Amino acid sequence: MPEERLGEFDLIDRFFNRASDPEPFLDLGIGDDAAIVRVPENKRLCLSVDTVVEGVHFPKDFPPEHIATRALGSALSDLAAMGASPSHFTLAITLPDSRVAWLEAFASALMSMASEYGVRLVGGDTTRGPLAISVQVHGWLPEEQSLRRDAVKPGDLLVVSGTLGDAAAGLRSLEAGQDHGNHEFLLDRFSCPRPRIELSLALLGLANAAIDISDGLMKDAEHLALSSGVQLVIEVPALPVSSGLAEAYPEDFSSLALSGGDDYEVLYSISREAWAMLPADLQAQLTVIGHALEGEPLVQLVGLDSTIETKGFQHFE
Ligand code: ADP
Ligand code: MG
Repeated sequence: MPEERLGEFDLIDRFFNRASDPEPFLDLGIGDDAAIVRVPENKRLCLSVDTVVEGVHFPKDFPPEHIATRALGSALSDLAAMGASPSHFTLAITLPDSRVAWLEAFASALMSMASEYGVRLVGGDTTRGPLAISVQVHGWLPEEQSLRRDAVKPGDLLVVSGTLGDAAAGLRSLEAGQDHGNHEFLLDRFSCPRPRIELSLALLGLANAAIDISDGLMKDAEHLALSSGVQLVIEVPALPVSSGLAEAYPEDFSSLALSGGDDYEVLYSISREAWAMLPADLQAQLTVIGHALEGEPLVQLVGLDSTIETKGFQHFE
């Protein structure tokens, strides 16, 4: 029996136009030429768009539910990195065909992550072509607060959420066809990023600056250093590494933690005073990995073991 396929409008109606409950800031959602959203009083609109392309950001034949969580998760992570509270999103999807089973799995995973993070799908675009997904997320920021890249102050501590390198290791073992005991854990870190929205909301007004780690700690720390015009010192032995990563890659977990992207953890800078006052439950979600100094804007690695592969970031030497 041939797989069921749908036309564009049936597809939008069946899979993406699901939410029917009213939403306080949404005047007009899916179905018109554009959505109309109200920005709450005393708030700023914070928005960002991210695209994932098959064969570039995820492997061919990657499960549709994981494509959905990567696409929405990476987009939401940009809001986390600003300290914004997610509100709405739009979805531009380019599909080679319209297989119902694929769409069902994609849409279910997308909608369940959306409700977990309290974001409502308000529109999008559906086209035919090589598989690619763009998600534009919208969120709110208080008028005078945000976690910008250009606000690191000399003397700040650098603190990072979660553990680093897991997602890159998961992708590596997937591509190498390795099935070690930690594969599932590591691959889940790649497939289903968990954007640090709540942690960032708690740090808004306390931390000075933030960036989410999508390209790898070294690259993203360099962005922070350049935007803020400060030098960043990172202590390699302090990097938070999961036991799963250390077990699976005992030789090169440090280089994965330094250069592996896709974890969507957040690197924050925070004054020593603010750090010392931070509630214990927030401190427990963070690891101090270095500090900022006045000086040439670059990233210095301290305690770098000579066995660590540094090819990927030689421009910092
Ligand atoms: P237009 O041709 O005016 O751009 P479309 O025919 O592309 O409108 O879309 C019709 C409606 O369906 C619009 O409200 C649009 O936002 C919505 N829409 C289209 N594709 C998607 C999608 N993948 N997810 C959510 N909404 C979508
Ligand atoms: Mg259109």
